[in-house]
Order: sequence, then C-alpha cells, then structure tokens
Amino acid sequence: MKCDPNLYRAASPSLAVKPRLIRHLFLPPLIIALMIGLGYIGFWTSEHYGIRSLGENGQRQLELHARAVESEISKYTYLPSLLELETSVSKLLADPTPEHRQTVNDYLEGLNRRSRSRAIYVMDTTGRVMATSNWRDVDSYLGEDLSFRAYFQNAVRGQPGRFYGIGSTNGEPGYYLAHGLEEHGKIIGVAVVKVRLEAMEERWQRARLEAFVSDENGIIILSSDPARRLKSVVPLSEETKEKLARSLQYYWFPLNELQPLARETLSEGVEKLTFPANSELVSDDENISYLSQTRPLSDTPWNFTLLTPLQDLRREAVNQGILVAVAFALVAFLLIAWNERRKVIATRLAAREALQEANNQLERRITERTTDLRASNERLKGQIRERRHAEETLRRAQDELVQAGKLAAIGQMSTSIAHELNQPLAALRTLSGNTVRFLERGQLDVASTNLKTINELIDRMGRITASLRSFARRGDDKGQACLGKAVDAALQLLGGRVENAHLQVHRHFDDVQMQIDQTRLEQILVNLVGNALDAMQAQPQPELWLEGEALEGKYRLRVRDNGHGIDAEARKHLFEPFFTTKPGEQGLGLGLTLSASLAAATGGHLGVEHPASGGTAFVLSLPLVSPTSAEPI
Ligand code: ADP
Repeated sequence: MKCDPNLYRAASPSLAVKPRLIRHLFLPPLIIALMIGLGYIGFWTSEHYGIRSLGENGQRQLELHARAVESEISKYTYLPSLLELETSVSKLLADPTPEHRQTVNDYLEGLNRRSRSRAIYVMDTTGRVMATSNWRDVDSYLGEDLSFRAYFQNAVRGQPGRFYGIGSTNGEPGYYLAHGLEEHGKIIGVAVVKVRLEAMEERWQRARLEAFVSDENGIIILSSDPARRLKSVVPLSEETKEKLARSLQYYWFPLNELQPLARETLSEGVEKLTFPANSELVSDDENISYLSQTRPLSDTPWNFTLLTPLQDLRREAVNQGILVAVAFALVAFLLIAWNERRKVIATRLAAREALQEANNQLERRITERTTDLRASNERLKGQIRERRHAEETLRRAQDELVQAGKLAAIGQMSTSIAHELNQPLAALRTLSGNTVRFLERGQLDVASTNLKTINELIDRMGRITASLRSFARRGDDKGQACLGKAVDAALQLLGGRVENAHLQVHRHFDDVQMQIDQTRLEQILVNLVGNALDAMQAQPQPELWLEGEALEGKYRLRVRDNGHGIDAEARKHLFEPFFTTKPGEQGLGLGLTLSASLAAATGGHLGVEHPASGGTAFVLSLPLVSPTSAEPI
C-alpha cells in the first residue's frame, strides 16, 4: 500500500534553512550588541542621576563650608583698622623713637595674642616695618622693607589690602589684611594682620571633605590635601607668572598646574574632572573622577571648591549597567526559550495534524483498495472456476485424444497386426493339417512336436493381442512403471517392424521405477520408437540408442536415432496436435502431442534435441519413485 509522499514532505529546505541560518548568524551578535547598548544606557542613566543627587547634596555642603571660610576670614577684617584709633601707633609713625616703638610693640604683641592672629605689624608709608607683635622673635619683621608687597601698595593708596602669600621672612604662608592708617585725611602708615587659615584645612580633613580655596590667580591656597597646595587650577599666563615671581607672593614655589585629564562642565560652577592615575591629586593607580562644585567667597576674589569623588558612584553605575545587561540577557534568553518552545509545540501540532490527515487518507485508500481487492478477488475466483472448468474439459479432451490416438495407432498397426497374426495362423493351419495326417499315420512323435510348435505360436499370438489390449486401455495419472519392462513391451509391440528394419538397439539405462502408469509409459515409448523407425526407413544401418541418467529426483531417458532428422520448419510445430509429415494414412500427428501431455500429467516432460551428428533425440524426463531403486540393465 502506498502513501501519498506529499503528506510527509517537509517544507522546502531552502525556505526552512535560510531563516534559521539568518537567525543563528545574526541573533547572537544582535543580543550582545543590545546587551552592551542597554548596559551602557543603564550605566549612563545611573551615573547621570547619581551625579545629580551628589550635586544637590554637594551644593548644601559647599554652601555650608564656604560660609565657614567667609566667617573665618571676615573675623579679622576689622582688626587692622582698629590700630587707627591707637594713639601710640600714630605717635610712632610721627616720631619713630625707640620708646614709641617699644610701646607699640608691646601693644601689638598683646593684641595679637588676644585676637589669635599670626602677627600684627605697622609700616610707615615707605613700607618699612616700624613695630610688630613678633618683635621678640629672631625672624622678627622689625625694620624690614615690605614695600614690594601688594597688600602694602593697595593699603598705602587707601584701598583694602587683601593678600595671601608666603612670608618673605620666615617662608610661612598666611593671609595678610592691610589697612591704610589715616590721620587728618592723610595716610601716615599701614597696619597689617597676618592670619593663618590652616585650622580650616584641619577641619576639612577631620570631616573627610575634599575641598580647596583658590585665589584670584587660580592658585590653591588652602586645601584639605596638602599635596594640592600652591598648585594652579587654571593655566597661568606668562605675564601672571612674572608678576607673581616679582611680588614673591608665593615665594619661589614652582606653582605647578593641576591639569585634569578630562573636564566636563555640567552647569555653572559644576564640573566633572578626571585626573590621571599617578597625578599629584590621585594616589592610587586608576584615573579618578570628581564632581567639582565651585562658589566665589564674598569679600575676597577667591573661590571655594568642593570635590566629591565619583568612584563609588561610578562603581555603582557600572554595577547597574551590568545588572541591566544581565537582566536583558535573561529576558532575551527567556524570550528565545519561549519562542523555541512555541515553535516546537506548533511543529508538533502541525505534525500531529499532518499525521492525522495522512491516517485519514490512508484509511480512505485502504477502504478503496480493499473494495478493489475484494472485487478483483471475486474476479479471480471466477477466473479460477473458469480455468478449473476449462482444465477439466481439457483433461477430458486429452483423455479422449489419448484414446483416439491409441485407436488410431491400432488402426495404423492393424496391417502389421494382421500380418503378425496371419503368419502364425497360416502356420497353424498347415501344422494342424499335418498333425492330423501324422496322427492318422501313427507318427505320434512328429504330431507331438507339431502340437508343441502350435502351442508356441498360440502363445505368441496371445502376447500380441495382450499388448494391444493394454495399449488401448485407459490408464490413469497415478501408478508406477518399470522402465525396463516398458521398453521391452514397446519393442515387442513393434517387434515386426524392428525385425524387418534390422534395427540395432543400444540399451544404456537403469531399470528404474518411475511415477507413471505402466501402460502410459509403454504408449509413450511405442510412439517415440515408432517415429524413430519411420525416420530411419531409408537408413541402411538403423540404430537406436536408449540412454538414461538420474537427475534431481527425475530420470531422463534419451531415445536417439540416426534417422533423417527434423527440418527447421517442422521443429516449430512438432508438438502441435495433428502435425505430421507422414503421407496419407500413415501419420495422424497425435503421437508426440499425446506423449508430451502424458509425461506432463505425471509432473514430467518430453523434449527434443537435434544432435550435431545427425538424427533426432527425444528426451523423456519423469519423476522417480525412489532414486535408490535404480538397477542397471
Ligand atoms: P505422426 O507420427 O502420426 O506423424 P507424431 O506426433 O508422432 O505424429 O510425429 C509428428 C511428426 O514429427 C512426424 O510426422 C515426423 O515428421 C516428426 N518426427 C517425429 N519423430 C521423429 C523422428 N524420430 N525423426 C524425424 N522426424 C520425426
């Protein structure tokens, strides 16, 4: 039973493979690209909002600490102007005697102690220090010319002198506040207070705050990290450098720049600074970013800057980015898995449907075919019945034909039979007449001899008629035949013709038992030998070979003559009924047909060979009863 191949055919390979190939080729890089992209977005968003919240927090801190710096500085602004009220100071400036100087020195020393400033001193209009609070110290300012200091130059012109610098005497940094001392509208000297602001640095350090104050030149003057001190946060122009060198504001310090690797302005006064690893700002090996928030300090040209490290924020942002990427990968994986499962289920459903459809089709076809088969079975049964009927008819016809053949053979043989019987009859008549006469004469011996001869002749006649009777009798398909006996009987039946022809018979076969009725075997052999005799009529030395051999449960008897053989045209029709080449009443054309059908009826076969040496050989092959029973003749 065939199934429709279309039912099981998968989708066209080119269609099925291509999208899968494309998916397999492009999906992983796409997912990876999306992972990276989304991870970056996650990182960026986290960093952005983190910076914003840090900025808000930092702004409060900035305000708080800037105010603290402002109040620290403003604490001293009034101090130099106080000296204007002090008469000893104006006396000293008007008349710089040692007594006046000592009075002012003592006064300044006491004031300095109470105000907790670093030093307080008074200069004349030429810039020379007239009196100082540190008059006792070895590195006292007393008598020094500080006219080159910017704070002096401003104050002597009546402007407030604000100055952060390094002391030229002892190299100590400090904040200088100067004030021009007026008397009757005229500046007679300059009072200066030097303040140390390092306490604020210590406060920042304690609060773990990263902050610095840069002056108008961008030089860091106060810093929570001492390494940053006296570094410039903006590039210094050559002119500024020269001016600073001349004023010795920062003494001889190199004033290196604190140059960030990257600077990103986020808003007014808010920047993102990245310093390279190993910079003076960063102690460890990796680049470090800061959120830098700057605010100017009131009453000074200075700026206060708060630095908030972004390391933790960045680490957090990286973690967020990784988290987003991993979450996306997980979602993508789940989606792919879900999609694959959906496809598998869809394929299974489709396969089940296809199978169901195929089953339905198969069932339909089986039903159709079964109907067809049933019909053809019925037809076959009818044909078998017809064949059986025809076989029966044929068998009956064959039997009739065999019988007819036998009768025909009898008819044919009647002449020779008559001849065979007439001879002994004539001899009998003569012998019986003679015997009567010998009895009358009393010659009993001779009469007795004649009677014996008569007996023999009667026996011979009896045998001839017996053979004819057995030949004419209907046989059946079953039974056993002895080959030797059958050959003898056949030769005996044809005895007259055999003798007349002086036929030489060569017997080379075994006395085997064959599965055929004895009479039928004799009939076959009579036909074959009779035909051979006919064919050898013109042969001066007729010879007949009877050769046998056992082969695969059968016995082959070859009946070969040295007659005229059979021409090519006759060979084609040899076994056809009523085919004969014999003239007139001599041939009926039934002998070979009947012999072949008799052999076939027992499961045997009759064939013909045409030996190259001449003559004809008929091969009779019949089943053996028992192969072991063969006895050589
Ligand atoms: P019939 O003998 O009545 O002609 P057969 O069927 O016995 O019918 O033989 C058919 C023909 O086969 C014969 O007429 C003869 O021509 C040919 N034939 C049969 N046997 C031989 C033989 N041994 N040699 C030559 N021809 C033969």
